[in-house]
Amino acid sequence: MRPTDLTIAEGLAALERRELSALEWTRACLEAIERLNPRLNAFITVTAEQAIAAARASDARRARGEAGPLEGVPLAIKDLFCTEGVRTTAASRMLEGFVPPYESTVTAQLKRDGAVFLGKANLDEFAMGSSNLTSAFGGVENPWKRADAPELRLVPGGSSGGSAAAVAARLAPGATGTDTGGSIRQPAAFCGIAGIKPTYGRCSRYGIVAFASSLDQAGPFARTVEDCAILLRSMSGHDPKDSTSADRPVPDFRAAVSRGVKGLRIGVPREYRVEGMPAEIEALWRQGLAWLRDAGAEIVEISLPHTRHALPTYYVVAPAEASSNLARYDGVRYGLRVAQQGDHLRALYEATRAEGFGREVQRRILIGTYVLSAGYYDAYYLKAQKVRALIARDFAEAWKTVDAIVTPTAPSAAFAEGEKQDDPVAMYLNDIFTVTANLAGLPGISVPAGLDAKGLPLGLQVIGRPFDEEGVLAVGGAIERAAGFRAAPEVRA
Ligand code: GLN
Repeated sequence: MRPTDLTIAEGLAALERRELSALEWTRACLEAIERLNPRLNAFITVTAEQAIAAARASDARRARGEAGPLEGVPLAIKDLFCTEGVRTTAASRMLEGFVPPYESTVTAQLKRDGAVFLGKANLDEFAMGSSNLTSAFGGVENPWKRADAPELRLVPGGSSGGSAAAVAARLAPGATGTDTGGSIRQPAAFCGIAGIKPTYGRCSRYGIVAFASSLDQAGPFARTVEDCAILLRSMSGHDPKDSTSADRPVPDFRAAVSRGVKGLRIGVPREYRVEGMPAEIEALWRQGLAWLRDAGAEIVEISLPHTRHALPTYYVVAPAEASSNLARYDGVRYGLRVAQQGDHLRALYEATRAEGFGREVQRRILIGTYVLSAGYYDAYYLKAQKVRALIARDFAEAWKTVDAIVTPTAPSAAFAEGEKQDDPVAMYLNDIFTVTANLAGLPGISVPAGLDAKGLPLGLQVIGRPFDEEGVLAVGGAIERAAGFRAAPEVRA
């Protein structure tokens, strides 16, 4: 087997048996990146030299008997995680020239456990988007092709589009992402791989460029649910540097994947049957439920009545927090500075922010400052906070009768570049099934479950109780086993 085809679990086993070295695995990934990244644009920065050095050091540790749980595993890192000494862009011009003097907690933990970083993956600017097209470094090409129109460039989803495309195209066996309203789960679905957003507080947010702090969570991408579990374990854990980080033990997520679903009650929310959803997605959803029933689960219809307000609520709360978080980019402290000789401070702010931020980011800042402004605060922001509490309460009610909830991940398969680009609302609608988990802080996974008639992957989403990633992984694992999804994209190493 070629190293680029290995899953993380397979690669770790091969390393253990000395059939593969970290250096060989890393080199195979770097060669694939060199060949395919000019086309896919999945990486903004490739750190080949550092990766080779890290792989050598990893092999030496293994030889000394000091192998960590991720010893020698090459990974792509979403370019929203600060990496010490390595340029971090958030896919924005605003951070031009920014080289963090510190490491995010999540990436520090991955390194501690032996992972090797290949580079920084492309994303929507400041993680705002569902297509990766808002990146200042250009869009990412989805490695999958539509059978009826193979010449079309499809989007990989967003915001973690580079991470998902890199894993799907076998440039890396795993990657990190962040998910504020679906940015791990939707790109995972569009690229035919798995991705999990854990419970809010499970992974530290320290050192992740902030978008909407009450919604942002880090999580992994990989080609299998088991690999996601392996990565999530290293990424999780309490961090005193993040006051919202949960002080809870980190379970053995990997063991949960094969636990099965016998006796579990799986909820199907009535309100997720949205109008205009392709029949194929509806059919796959029903198929997924049938698989779980065959595996011993009980399917229960439930109601999450406030779901219909979830998108408007999200698109008030997230921009509000973003406008506040992004106030720090003022041309004074770091990143881009645009100023003419003799400019006043205010002119410096205006010129820097006008040039540094792309259109979507500016739109979010405008919405956010508007809903937070005097006179509108009560009508929009406060109202959204109240509805958010109701959405969370719907889930709390549901957990009295079900153990997990299964829905489609997104209302469509990957769309083509340009398709929804001129209509922000059409783009926002893509997040309809994913934002609720962020608003309620719940764990959610997307698992590749089938192909549509045009040969594009579709994902199913499993949402679980707070801190029950194990339950989510167990149901995700059962769907994965039943689906037997083996298809691979057109463009791959
Ligand atoms: N697509 C959503 C947005 O544009 C979610 C992004 C994310 O999860 N970072 O806000």
